[in-house]
Amino acid sequence: MIRTTILFVQILILIALSVWLAKEPGSVTVVWRDWQVDTSVGILVMAVGLIAVAITLSFRLWQFLTQTPGRLLTNRRANRERRGYRELADGMLALASGDAARAMKHARKADTFLGHSAAGHLIVAEAAVLQGKSDLAKERFKSLLEDQHTAVAGARGLLTHAVGTDDDTEALMLAEKVRSVDPNAAWVLPKLFDLQVRARNWSAADATMSEAIKRLAVSAEKGRRLRALVLYERGLASSEMSDDEAAVGFFREALDLDASLPRIAIEYSKLLLKSGKKRRSQRVLEQSWMTSKHPDTIKQLIAVTANDEPVDRYRAAQKIMSQNLDADTALILARYALDAKLWGEARKHIELTLRERSSVAACEMMAAIEDEEQSGSDAARGWQEKMLTAAADKAWVCSNCHANSDSWSPTCQSCGEFDQIEWQFPAALTESKTRLLPMQTVPLLSNS
Ligand SMILES: [Zn+2]
Repeated sequence: MIRTTILFVQILILIALSVWLAKEPGSVTVVWRDWQVDTSVGILVMAVGLIAVAITLSFRLWQFLTQTPGRLLTNRRANRERRGYRELADGMLALASGDAARAMKHARKADTFLGHSAAGHLIVAEAAVLQGKSDLAKERFKSLLEDQHTAVAGARGLLTHAVGTDDDTEALMLAEKVRSVDPNAAWVLPKLFDLQVRARNWSAADATMSEAIKRLAVSAEKGRRLRALVLYERGLASSEMSDDEAAVGFFREALDLDASLPRIAIEYSKLLLKSGKKRRSQRVLEQSWMTSKHPDTIKQLIAVTANDEPVDRYRAAQKIMSQNLDADTALILARYALDAKLWGEARKHIELTLRERSSVAACEMMAAIEDEEQSGSDAARGWQEKMLTAAADKAWVCSNCHANSDSWSPTCQSCGEFDQIEWQFPAALTESKTRLLPMQTVPLLSNS
């Protein structure tokens, strides 16, 4: 609006000037060599104006002719780039919607406009993963690995592939590569920890988990637990190499991180006892008993505090456990009473357990008591029969493969998973057993 007004004013001024010049009398004579031009002032001004316009137009024409080829080239390149990026964007969208074939097509088109770009490699690689073309995926991820800027993306893809094919050595190498290329890549820390644990490289796993906790790559609670397990393994390794001082340090730190695991307290207390620190050893076990209520802890505690006499051991157990007896602890105490042949005491504790829940161990002990008191009695047989249908007691059970284990260890001997063995009722196994029973009995009943 303002520009139009200015132009309008300029035209008005020009018209006014021309009218004024035309009205004004006066002439101009130009003499150059043999030439002589006689004209009016108005014509002269007009001639000068026309010459100025001609020069300006010529200059513009020259500019247009010299700059246009370059500009056309730039425009063409920009156009190709624009189309290439559009193909990449379409490829990403196709990938996100799970259409690998379309993603691959867009990536190939993008290649024709942009050459082999990192984003193109990534789309083809991910699409190849979806299509199960692992060789192509690996080839493209490796291309990404070569460039410093895209190395992490390449290593991540190859790492996922290596993990998928259970190639632990390759996976560990790639996870370490990610760490070296991008020290801020927190996502790789839990995976790196798993691989270091599988390689039983405890000190490296410990450092990785400390870093993972710091960078919030795992929850604080889980991180503490995993570090405790790794420190326990470091303690065992030091102990095997007769470095008891280092082992004590590792066990103590492990126990500080997670006091719920009886085996850590037991190993720690054994070393304390070995170095003559009996009271400290006893205190460690007592504290562990408070949190774990595990039979192994009480067994070790009695070994530290009592002699080998079964009655003395029962009295020691009774002293520690008599307060707050529940179904689980009463069952533990009953075993000591049974060993000491204190049938009445044992029966009393077992009945406490049986009032709360069914238990194979309780039935087994009751059968033993009845057998001791009146050999071959019907009561003993009755308890043996009850044992067959009684619920299983707590045991070390792997939450991953449900295998029972005699003792706890950080790694399941059956499936190799880390931190899966827990002191628990084998509920999953019991459930599957009870689920099977009706299916097996129905055909039998219908046949009869
Ligand atoms: Zn397992």
